[in-house]
Amino acid sequence: MSKRIQKVIILGGGTAGWMSAALLRRVLPDTIDIELVESEQIGIVGVGEATIPPIQNVNTVLGLDEPEFLRATRATLKLAIRFDDWRVPGEGYFHTFGAPGRSQAFCHFHHFWNRARLAGHDSNLWDYDLNYLMCQAGRFAKLKADDPMWEVKYAYHFDAGLYGQYLRRYSEARGVVRTEGRVAEVAMHPQTGHVEALVLDDGRRVAGNFFVDCSGQRGVLIQGALGVGFDDWSHWLPCDRAMAVPSQAAEASTPYTRATAHDGGWQWRIPLQHRNGNGLVYSSRHLDDEQAAELLLANLDTPAISDPRPLRFRTGRARSQWHRNVLAVGLASGFLEPLESTSIHLIQSAVVRLLHRFPHDGIHAEAVNEYNRQSRREYEQIRDFIILHYHLNERDGDFWRDLRHMSVPERLTRKIELFRANGSLFQDDMDIFLEPSWLQVMLGQGVVPGDYHPIADGLDEAQLLEKLTSMRRLKGEPVAKMPPHDEFLKMYGALAGD
Ligand SMILES: Cc1cc2nc3c(=O)[nH]c(=O)nc-3n(C[C@H](O)[C@H](O)[C@H](O)COP(=O)(O)OP(=O)(O)OC[C@H]3O[C@@H](n4cnc5c(N)ncnc54)[C@H](O)[C@@H]3O)c2cc1C
Repeated sequence: MSKRIQKVIILGGGTAGWMSAALLRRVLPDTIDIELVESEQIGIVGVGEATIPPIQNVNTVLGLDEPEFLRATRATLKLAIRFDDWRVPGEGYFHTFGAPGRSQAFCHFHHFWNRARLAGHDSNLWDYDLNYLMCQAGRFAKLKADDPMWEVKYAYHFDAGLYGQYLRRYSEARGVVRTEGRVAEVAMHPQTGHVEALVLDDGRRVAGNFFVDCSGQRGVLIQGALGVGFDDWSHWLPCDRAMAVPSQAAEASTPYTRATAHDGGWQWRIPLQHRNGNGLVYSSRHLDDEQAAELLLANLDTPAISDPRPLRFRTGRARSQWHRNVLAVGLASGFLEPLESTSIHLIQSAVVRLLHRFPHDGIHAEAVNEYNRQSRREYEQIRDFIILHYHLNERDGDFWRDLRHMSVPERLTRKIELFRANGSLFQDDMDIFLEPSWLQVMLGQGVVPGDYHPIADGLDEAQLLEKLTSMRRLKGEPVAKMPPHDEFLKMYGALAGD
């Protein structure tokens, strides 16, 4: 029997299933058939509405028209996440997709800022960050400039249901076959243990050579059929439930997500064109469902438009994300809470990683091992970045106290201690969060470096202060000329109904 991959079967029609279908169909040749099986009766998780900037690469590969995409998914633009009450109640900070100032070789801008701060000239580091200034002003524009200092890095907030439908239309129009049905059994080769076919509950068989398991938390293939096992990380990230509720759209939508800490968890607010998405992520050991629903409803900015919906999850990852001829993508591959909006990105990077080493001539152990190594690292890096937000807190209550005192992965401790000592940051293998992200969250959570890079001593004090003043002015200048975020969407032809 030929080992060539002639037919790819995707199980699941949530964001993971349709994003996989769209990307695979766009990139693979037509000689490879793609079929997607989903069960409307089972349905999709239907949350997952905030993204990070690399999603623009998906849109580029798919060749999407941005205003049309924004209209179809009722999207708004996202420049940052605002974290309220995370270190202590009453305080907040932004994690933007931008960076403060302008970096020079070997020395990030924050070292100059820190030298001035240690000399008694304190200022807000975010005042040198274009994205932050845009968030504060509620404005948006795309700047055309060669200098990366002026690059406006942004992502989207979109309606998860509409996004899935959009990608479904895209995929079906390009030849992906959709089969409605519930998988009741998985047929496996008796010798190799490879999956051969999905057997639906009405007896139909959907056969293929390569299977992408996008069946959500069930992991029908990767766990149910292949039993790869699960690395449970709930000792570091104890939240295991969410309560989600949509509410009316605000009068003006903000170009950022908001994440507010509460006793026993935290609450998200995601602005869309037609509604706000809201939810409380919490630990069931600290809050029961009724308390969570009450807390959520009491902290909405706008009236709820339906009843809160409970969701359960397990934090961690499938021990192997690629095993034999099955690749797990999306919730089937694992879950990290949505604090940094990373799950849709993990879908994207899983499919891109597969495409880089697509096993057209058969599955090679080296490719599988390298794939699994990279995906494990990527998950671990995101996990550690999320733990950072929780661990560096000074809040009261059992939930927060336990997180503050728990021992964290060793790499994270090193990062925090190095930054605390002299403001140094380092980039790890497969970390999607670059230095400016770590900088903002560490500072926001109260770690202030005790020293700075010696390059910052190259200016005398007057030159240093002038550098800071002119940088603040330069970053602020374009913002004053930008339209309000909603106005930009209108002018851009991005509002649904336009
Ligand atoms: C509370 C919460 C908030 C989140 N917020 C964000 C966010 O802001 N940003 C972000 O990037 N991500 C977020 N996520 C994650 C995001 O929702 C998911 O990554 C995304 O929706 C992908 O889900 P999925 O497609 O893997 O699974 P699902 O949506 O659960 O889809 C599973 C599919 O498999 C099918 N299926 C399952 N079993 C069978 C069977 N036996 N037979 C046939 N079909 C079957 C189902 O019908 C369905 O089509 C959030 C998740 C949660 C829980």
